[in-house]
Amino acid sequence: MLMQTLVSRIPIPHRLLILGLMLLSALVILMPTEPSDSRQTSREPSELSELYVPELLPLNTTLSAQSVQADVAPFFEAEIEAPEPALPELTWHSITVQSGDALSNLFRRANVSQQTMLAILALGDSTRTLTRLFPGETLEFGLDEAGQLQELRYAINRLESLLVYRDDEGRFQSEQQRRAVETRTEYAAATIQSSFWHAGLSAGLSNNQIMALASIFGWDIDFALDIRAGDSFTVLFERNYSEDEFIGYGAILAAQFSNQGRVIQAVRHNDGHYYKPDGTSMRQAFLRAPVEFTRISSNFNPRRQHPVTGRVAPHNGIDYVAPVGTPIMATGDGRVTASTYNNLNGNYVFIQHGNNIVTKYLHLSRRQVRVGDRVRQGQVIGRLGATGRVTGPHLHYEFVVNGVHRNPRTVQLPQAQALTGGDKASFIAKANEVLTELQSQQQQLLAATP
Ligand SMILES: [Zn+2]
Repeated sequence: MLMQTLVSRIPIPHRLLILGLMLLSALVILMPTEPSDSRQTSREPSELSELYVPELLPLNTTLSAQSVQADVAPFFEAEIEAPEPALPELTWHSITVQSGDALSNLFRRANVSQQTMLAILALGDSTRTLTRLFPGETLEFGLDEAGQLQELRYAINRLESLLVYRDDEGRFQSEQQRRAVETRTEYAAATIQSSFWHAGLSAGLSNNQIMALASIFGWDIDFALDIRAGDSFTVLFERNYSEDEFIGYGAILAAQFSNQGRVIQAVRHNDGHYYKPDGTSMRQAFLRAPVEFTRISSNFNPRRQHPVTGRVAPHNGIDYVAPVGTPIMATGDGRVTASTYNNLNGNYVFIQHGNNIVTKYLHLSRRQVRVGDRVRQGQVIGRLGATGRVTGPHLHYEFVVNGVHRNPRTVQLPQAQALTGGDKASFIAKANEVLTELQSQQQQLLAATP
């Protein structure tokens, strides 16, 4: 057999290597397959726009030997005097990975030898993905009439696949194929009636896009408490297609949010960050809210007349009513100056920032930082709770500037960083263009909405 001749021709060190691989595969076989859920989704093109920027690659067309034969034969039959020997007709076996399967099980079910599997794994990095299969995934085995594996196909994700085939000398080769991605831009717009979330869904945005939108504007707008009926937004975003099939969302390119009469615009720059039309960054030293808006239940109840009834009348700070355990974020970079407990505040954390600003987080069920820790904006520092003198679970949040309590939602914050020079000039030109288009789309879309 071919494999045997190959093996006997292999130099001793290589045989040792193959032996090693066999031992390794035995280990792989013994290892339980990991639960697939989280990993599986992470292999899909991410919906979160900022994380996933697909490259436009040419479609790698590889017709299998047999389909070339089929296409060509009828046309050239008459002219070819001595046709080349027919390429073997392949029989395909589609084997689906079951929970607990090792690669060797799949090869066994396809009646392909373990030596063949090892020869494929010996291709190295290119076929290593075969050792990390997940339940539900499928391997396609193409066998010739002699039962020898000629081709192996594996869809790594919706865009990428692995092809293993034999070259003219019968040796395995592999190549990664990638489908071409076409990016289209689309608009969405909505006026908020009951909640930002509902408006986002009714405008056709995905959950991730709604969250992305909230984070783009999270330095200017407190989505937990400051959204009102009548607020509106428009979004220009990318959708990715492969062969006319929708495969996922690309980036949000521009967005406009009208909040209580204040209009805020954001345009994505080629650095992947968002800027205002004048080139200043959307990012600021402080987030408006220390809690994600999705946690504030009052904001999601369409039956409530006022989406802010969860708010307790302000004293020295702002109260965010949300379930116990809700993550609490540091609103800005800084250093923890207190992380302790007393009867009044319950579990509490103070953070000292630059510019003589201190932020305070009270009544936590759990503290996740210690005095002296450096924390980053958005970092979870504890969990919402009902400790200390409280009537129910909530976060009491204070924003203190030079020792004076300020309203964190309206206080003038340190100036944001801006683009400079030619970068700024080209951004402003592009931003004007995009925003003009965005506004004309908004008028059309909102006019069409009942
Ligand atoms: Zn309070």
